[in-house]
Amino acid sequence: MVEIYRDRDTVKVGYLKSLLESEGIPCFIKNDNLSIVEVPIPAFYPALNIVNVEDIPKARKILSELQEGDSILNTDPNKAPVTEEDIPCPHCTEENPANFGNCWSCCGEL
Ligand SMILES: [Zn+2]
Repeated sequence: MVEIYRDRDTVKVGYLKSLLESEGIPCFIKNDNLSIVEVPIPAFYPALNIVNVEDIPKARKILSELQEGDSILNTDPNKAPVTEEDIPCPHCTEENPANFGNCWSCCGEL
């Protein structure tokens, strides 16, 4: 068995498990009984494991396609879709998201 995905969110891991199973890839979740993790220790997070090593390339492909097209796995804030351009503050020139009414830095009106 090989661990292919780990996340604090049991629902997300369970979703991926059902997805891989629907593709005919035998897999199981480790640490599933620790569904409520109060302390954010990655070692205790639910982990999705693949039973057969030969299924890994296919499983990784499914996961990577999800990460590109589905925001459920998009946990990296730097990868969040940019809807509007940042605008520079007229008072201190700091860049602000376009939906901000006041500058995050100097609180001046944008
Ligand atoms: Zn400012």
